[in-house]
Amino acid sequence: MRLFDTHAHFSDDSDIAAIERRALDAGVVRILAVGGSDELNRNALSTSGPVALGLDRDQMPFGDEDHRNLRRLIADNADRVAAIGETGLDFHYGADTADAQRELFARQLALADELALPVVVHTREADEATIETLRAAPWRHGGKLRGVIHSYTGGPAFAGRLLDLGFCISFSGIATFRSADLVRDSARYVPADRILVETDSPFLAPVPLRGRPCEPAFVVHTARRLAEERDVPFEDFAEQTFINSCHLFGVQPC
Ligand SMILES: [Zn+2]
Repeated sequence: MRLFDTHAHFSDDSDIAAIERRALDAGVVRILAVGGSDELNRNALSTSGPVALGLDRDQMPFGDEDHRNLRRLIADNADRVAAIGETGLDFHYGADTADAQRELFARQLALADELALPVVVHTREADEATIETLRAAPWRHGGKLRGVIHSYTGGPAFAGRLLDLGFCISFSGIATFRSADLVRDSARYVPADRILVETDSPFLAPVPLRGRPCEPAFVVHTARRLAEERDVPFEDFAEQTFINSCHLFGVQPC
């Protein structure tokens, strides 16, 4: 059994070596370390695996200087950069910055397009704005969007629209929460070749570990629950999501 945690964050106080060791012991053999701010980008690069680098919706105000710095960071680490992100829209916490968020998101999509990289997207209470921004993105490579909607919390209808745009959908520990029936409906709906799993650690520890600081090793619990929901053997689901992730992020299966 092998698993790919497609979304983990690391802060200045993360014991990255210990976290990576516990992940390996649990069968989580690949982790995409995801950035989004200076601190998250820097710490993602302190891991030993592939990274996503970007500017998330909390990086306001941002300017040309921030974009230049990000470009430099990506160029300096080109061999490890597997995606742009995370980026996206959050109108739950950031309704007052909606316009600036959209502008930043659009610029990150343009960068992903230019570099031919997939994009890691956060979206919360911003369904229409997310679809509109994705549709307006200047994607040239094969005319297809590539990327993942991470820690998906919406219903099957929104998932269907994102799948139509070519996106994968990734589920976090939220899918194990008692109140998350709608998320589980979506997890049953997404086709087998488009579903990914993640922790979004250090947040959102899955049942039965809720309340603990989350880490990539815990993705096993989320994957188990999702396999159960989809009525497929856990081993098969683990392998399918592993291959999906390697494919999307251009990572060599081990
Ligand atoms: Zn995240």
